[in-house]
Amino acid sequence: MAGTPLLHGEFGSYPARGPRFALTLTPVALHVQRLRPRPEAWPQGGLVPLAEVSGCRTLRSCSPNDSAAYLCVYTYPRGRRGGRRRAARTFRADRAPDYKENHAEAQRWATALTCLLRGVPLPGDLEITPELLPRPPRLLLLVNPFGGRGLAWQWCKNHVLPMISEAGLSFNLIQTERQNHARELVQGLRLNEWDGIVTVSGDGLLYEVVNGLLDRPDWEEAVKIPVGVLPCGSGNALAGAINQHGGFEPAIGLDLLLNCSLLMCRGGGSPLDLLSVTLASGARCFSLLSVAWGFVSDVDIQSERFRVLGPARFTLGTVLRLASLHVYPGRLSYLPASPPASNGPPAAPQPLPRAASELALAPAPASAPSPETHSPLHRSVSDLPLARGPDFPRGPQEDPSPSPPPSPGPCLLSPDPPLPPGPPSLGHSPPGSPASQTGASCGLPPSEGPREPPAPMKAPASPDTQTSPDPAASPDSESPAPGTLHGPKDDLLPPLGSPLPPGWVTLEGDFVLILAQSPSHLCADLVAVPNARFGDGLVHLCWVRGGVSRASLLRLFLAMEKGGHFGLGCPQLGYATARAFRLEPLTRHGILTVDGEQVEYGPLQAQIHPGLGTLLTGPEAPGSQLAGGEAWGPKCGPVPWGGGKV
Ligand code: ADP
Ligand code: MG
Repeated sequence: MAGTPLLHGEFGSYPARGPRFALTLTPVALHVQRLRPRPEAWPQGGLVPLAEVSGCRTLRSCSPNDSAAYLCVYTYPRGRRGGRRRAARTFRADRAPDYKENHAEAQRWATALTCLLRGVPLPGDLEITPELLPRPPRLLLLVNPFGGRGLAWQWCKNHVLPMISEAGLSFNLIQTERQNHARELVQGLRLNEWDGIVTVSGDGLLYEVVNGLLDRPDWEEAVKIPVGVLPCGSGNALAGAINQHGGFEPAIGLDLLLNCSLLMCRGGGSPLDLLSVTLASGARCFSLLSVAWGFVSDVDIQSERFRVLGPARFTLGTVLRLASLHVYPGRLSYLPASPPASNGPPAAPQPLPRAASELALAPAPASAPSPETHSPLHRSVSDLPLARGPDFPRGPQEDPSPSPPPSPGPCLLSPDPPLPPGPPSLGHSPPGSPASQTGASCGLPPSEGPREPPAPMKAPASPDTQTSPDPAASPDSESPAPGTLHGPKDDLLPPLGSPLPPGWVTLEGDFVLILAQSPSHLCADLVAVPNARFGDGLVHLCWVRGGVSRASLLRLFLAMEKGGHFGLGCPQLGYATARAFRLEPLTRHGILTVDGEQVEYGPLQAQIHPGLGTLLTGPEAPGSQLAGGEAWGPKCGPVPWGGGKV
């Protein structure tokens, strides 16, 4: 039960002269009620939803005379302007006369809170001790310093690393040096040493990682490693979908990054459908987002020159493309998802006024669940890493708006247990290494967090040495991504160029755009397919026929911000769910993209492989999962990350 009190107790504050509080921990929130000097009628910040908590830890005073122990909870509430701000809340366990007992009490609370955050079941009547928690997950962070507006490293350093340190995750960090670097790195990685690979960039870097995993001889095992994205790119489509899946309000920019980081701190994953795309040359790649032709791919690639604008580049690109609207003759064939009823949107299908062959199910906008109502989490782990103190250093060029550090008072508390001297190595928090357990904030002595972009590690990050890819052998950064050799067989597809088997539907004519989506979002603030869910096993085909007016097309994109475009009744807009499709452009020139990356122009075909990968999504908000996922058996259930490996 969400409101059931699990722990209740009285705490002081830091400094000790401050107010006293009654704390109550429930499965979904920490309730803070001021007791003295006088109870508050309307407590400010009295409800701390766990969805806004990154982690917690126990601290002790530097003064040997202080027998109290401290519980510090790291929270990211929304500020008055809507953006998240970091705030550490420190509570003083001081009911017992000696430190040992107070420490045990603070630790009991810290353990219970961490278990709730990570979905570790709390024992009914047993003692709550730190042994309940599994070992910390080991994450490989890959940062593309050129992602988005080039802020990926700054945002990573100022926001991501501090937060995942507070959450007690262990990580190694590598900055990519060039296109396809991430792909090469994961090909040489010893995967059993990691619990997840997380890209800090846009969607393109994760695309590289997934394709690198599927290019390994052991692809079947490799592709199961959980992958995640912390959005610092331009489009951030997958992050938009993760944000929605986690129950947060739609967000972009730094807010989206903080939301996704909070979700990642809590662990838990979802099955990730991958679309195997075969290009005209026979090359194969795996898409986790979308295949686009026409308006969408034109805007994506042609707005590359406005990269400095960040996500606004797509708005500008859209306006420019609308001014010179093109139609492209082509043919779209698809194998409908069957039975359509079980795979369709949850709401009653709203047929669009199209020909019968154009199966037109209008996705219903997903309800936005409250951010406070996360379901209990899946298992994950904790300990160590880099952390920043309240005065975490910032360079002159860094993002001017990071949350100010909390200030629970003068720097008189120290991490508990005290840390050994010496900073952890830059960008590398060796799993299990006590040296990487550095003091988090709340008035603690600042730990030595990263100050400059770390020198990219030449060898793939791993606790042990691994072979470094030969730079001379790396593909030219201008060349298209190499095709993937391995991966599952596309058993639904005849060879490209051969006739299609019975049961396929074919549409031919002029198109303004064709879009094959796996997740719901086209970019962080465009919900192309509101009812798409991770692991639904479907490719969602959307198209706009020629004959649409500029005004109608603009209206469609404006409505897409909230996923309301299917409700506009635009006769040129079509939608179908499929297992496979073939796209044959009947023009010589045009742009085709797979996950925002341009690929060779010509006919292509694709098949969805349900739940082939695992995506780190964090816990799912109640109500965000809709019917249609059961088709894929147990794999469709929530997937916790690692935790068991040593
Ligand atoms: P964005 O959303 O800003 O486009 P992406 O993550 O999609 O961000 O990355 C854009 C491109 O940058 C991808 O094609 C990726 O392969 C490439 N890339 C990754 N690392 C580097 C690097 N160090 N230098 C240049 N390009 C890189
Ligand atoms: Mg899907």
